[in-house]
Amino acid sequence: MNRFEYVAAPDVGGALAARRPDAAFKAGGMDLLDLMKSSIRAPGRLVNLLTIDELKGIDVDTSGATIGALATLAEIADHPDLARMFPALALAAGHAATPQVRNVATIGGNILQRPRCWYFRMAQYPCLKKGGDTCFAMDGENKYHAIFENSLCAMVHPSNTAVALLALDAVVRTAGSGEIPIRKFFVTPDQDILRESALAEGELVTQLFIPATGARSHYLEFRERQSFDWALVSAAAAAELEGQTLNNARVVLGSVAPIPWRIDLGEIAATDEALDRAADEAVRGATPLAKNKYKVQLARTAIRRSLRELARATE
Ligand SMILES: Cc1cc2nc3c(=O)[nH]c(=O)nc-3n(C[C@H](O)[C@H](O)[C@H](O)COP(=O)(O)OP(=O)(O)OC[C@H]3O[C@@H](n4cnc5c(N)ncnc54)[C@H](O)[C@@H]3O)c2cc1C
Ligand code: SF4
Repeated sequence: MNRFEYVAAPDVGGALAARRPDAAFKAGGMDLLDLMKSSIRAPGRLVNLLTIDELKGIDVDTSGATIGALATLAEIADHPDLARMFPALALAAGHAATPQVRNVATIGGNILQRPRCWYFRMAQYPCLKKGGDTCFAMDGENKYHAIFENSLCAMVHPSNTAVALLALDAVVRTAGSGEIPIRKFFVTPDQDILRESALAEGELVTQLFIPATGARSHYLEFRERQSFDWALVSAAAAAELEGQTLNNARVVLGSVAPIPWRIDLGEIAATDEALDRAADEAVRGATPLAKNKYKVQLARTAIRRSLRELARATE
């Protein structure tokens, strides 16, 4: 690991004042320190955010949920009002990693973690995402890689909470540009090969806001091992219920594309046949690589099951 300066930011203003081109914000540090230990990142200054009280806390009222960027995954998973109003988010946070990780990992850091692609994580592979000229996954070990939007870089976005936040139409609040709708927050490799978010260099995430729309939501994931593991495929579904119809239905798939992969289904009958048809249609455009064809079937099943879970309220 490189040598670095350490700054404990007293407040948001102090964190912004401590910025410089080679500085990095540190929240829980789970991802950042991992990358530093592997020599993938080498910031000259770490600006610790954990000392900033105004970035902490979760507040839920009739307008929605305001979640501080430093709220931990454990706090989100265990929050009774979030579980009641936005179950997809509580479930997504609760499924991530291990209890130890969830106690440290923050939601701000979770949506900003870098790719888990093993070629990206090893310094000896100078892939496209690190400024090189090759994607080693294309003809390499691509079992865990993307089945959508994978022609340039086949990484999958690693964040559980991003999947739920996109299904719930959240807004990212920052100390810089104000508000970024989550639909515009994640960027594809075609848009910017070196970054995964629209956050400007040195921009600080302060809060996530989820509007209360009355939508029902659900999150599920499939893993190789049940103890702790990254999802092979996950899905967050949300919709408003009206009689036997799901209105404004959407499903966001995780671990299938470089961004959380949103599928808007509009108005759909809450019947097994209609939901199965929607799932079949949603995966029709998949372009799996040599070793990840299994993800297409997993994605289809994840869509079907998450939508059926929403529809169960009408039975
Ligand atoms: C064993 C293990 C299993 C895991 N499994 C999962 C899983 O299943 N699902 C999942 O989603 N994750 C999983 N993770 C990843 C873990 O959840 C993330 O590493 C963690 O959420 C990152 O949050 P952090 O607070 O530690 O971020 P940090 O490491 O502190 O920061 C991550 C990045 O975000 C930036 N950043 C952080 N906060 C802000 C802010 N407020 N404003 C601007 N920039 C900011 C940092 O500069 C850095 O670039 C796993 C990790 C481990 C070790
Ligand atoms: S999938 Fe993306 S991150 Fe992985 S090797 Fe290819 S370019 Fe790099």
